[in-house]
Amino acid sequence: MDNEKGLLIVLSGPSGVGKGTVRKKIFEDPSTSYKYSISMTTRNMREGEEDGVDYFFKTKAEFEELIKQDQFIEYAEYVGNYYGTPVEYVKNTMDDGYDVFLEIEVEGAKQVRKKFPDALFIFLAPPSLDDLRERLVGRGTESDEKIQSRVTEARKEVEMMNLYDYVVVNDEIDLAKQRIQSIVDAEHLKRERIEAKYRKMILEAKK
Ligand code: ADP
Ligand code: 5GP
Repeated sequence: MDNEKGLLIVLSGPSGVGKGTVRKKIFEDPSTSYKYSISMTTRNMREGEEDGVDYFFKTKAEFEELIKQDQFIEYAEYVGNYYGTPVEYVKNTMDDGYDVFLEIEVEGAKQVRKKFPDALFIFLAPPSLDDLRERLVGRGTESDEKIQSRVTEARKEVEMMNLYDYVVVNDEIDLAKQRIQSIVDAEHLKRERIEAKYRKMILEAKK
């Protein structure tokens, strides 16, 4: 029997809410079978980051060339830098039957929704906007001005919650991780997905 196609899981939400932290926690868990799609970006590498692990770091010219070549499922300009999801890895990995996990900002998630309406969209929300600002300040990777523009952006992003299937509040990292894993597990048990598999089995049995 053919491989069942993997699910596309999109984790999004405001910058500083903890997407990266929760995503890392999910991928540290040896029982996680999803594949993480590493994004490309033109922003500077932060301390402790590695090219090809955290992101594929590109120059603006390289990124714009890839846009021209239609190499992204989605891309967005976010606080002065490009971020994008390479198309090839995602398609091939899903075709191989693996679930693919994207961690992207909301403009990009909107584009994915148009191209992959069957994907699973999860919005990671802060317990409050004050918590969000505190997390950005606590991370210590941005200037005050950048933090302010990220918080302004976050207000708009919270209003975009209605594009999502589920909302997970990131109060505690472990709880957020468990909630996301439960959502993905349940998605695999959706009647439509299971039914399609059984229909195929019945057809093959008739041959
Ligand atoms: P994002 O990827 O959404 O921009 P990060 O993962 O970089 O956000 O998290 C921003 C900051 O918030 C980091 O300093 C991180 O350690 C902290 N953080 C993440 N999740 C939580 C949480 N549940 N409680 C408290 N702090 C958190
Ligand atoms: P950071 O600079 O903090 O790593 O990321 C800034 C924002 O870009 C975060 O919200 C992060 O989730 C998002 N991001 C990371 N990769 C991608 C991507 O491939 N596409 C889009 N649209 N956003 C991304």
